[in-house]
Amino acid sequence: MAARLSQRVAGVRDLTRRFGDRVVLDGLDLDIEGGEFIALLGRSGSGKSTLLRALAGLDRDVEGRLEVTGSVAVAFQEPRLVPWKRVGSNITLGLAVPDAGERARRALAEVGLTERAGAWPLTLSGGEAQRASLARALVREPELLLLDEPFSALDALTRITVHQLVVQLWTVHRPAVLLVTHDVDEALLLASRVLVLDGGRIAYEAAVTAARPRHRDHPELVSLRT
Ligand code: ADP
Ligand code: MG
Repeated sequence: MAARLSQRVAGVRDLTRRFGDRVVLDGLDLDIEGGEFIALLGRSGSGKSTLLRALAGLDRDVEGRLEVTGSVAVAFQEPRLVPWKRVGSNITLGLAVPDAGERARRALAEVGLTERAGAWPLTLSGGEAQRASLARALVREPELLLLDEPFSALDALTRITVHQLVVQLWTVHRPAVLLVTHDVDEALLLASRVLVLDGGRIAYEAAVTAARPRHRDHPELVSLRT
């Protein structure tokens, strides 16, 4: 099943990021096509989060060329919900569109959190918080969805259901996804292209073309709530 590729949503050329003397990104090049699902691997400290922050426009101190067309949304390893705002309000925080409320309702329904809209973030389970974080990304209707180790803090079972949710959201909305993960199996399971960041650049790149279902279904787990 090939991803329907549309136009490029991000183009990065010669991207460099220094922290003092330390060169973390060193002339990195990367193109991201509309609708593709990329997994980004790399050792701890190799610069994966730095790259995502740059793509999200959260880092102004990068050198090089960075073109991102369309809207971008990020979900981090820690859901980073604001504890004194209810889940529903968290989803639309900073979202200045007239239909924010309707978008939030739809996004919460999509991640299975309709009933938790009025809950306080601290009462959510890890899986629920991560799903809320995905809903917060969804309401931005991103063409590029950046996921920075969104599963790594979750237990194994919760992980599978959140995996499934990401695949489902990707299937329905078809944003380009750049997923940072430490897990090679996860990368091969989910992505159509796997990148390895090393030495400040994309040191290795592989298309995943194996003749097996790319996104395995786990129908027996769909009904589980995390
Ligand atoms: P990864 O996500 O691949 O684990 P990061 O992108 O978080 O790696 O970090 C890459 C390197 O950049 C690390 O050595 C980290 O210490 C350094 N770094 C990241 N952010 C900063 C910062 N704000 N100030 C100084 N060093 C930083
Ligand atoms: Mg990181």
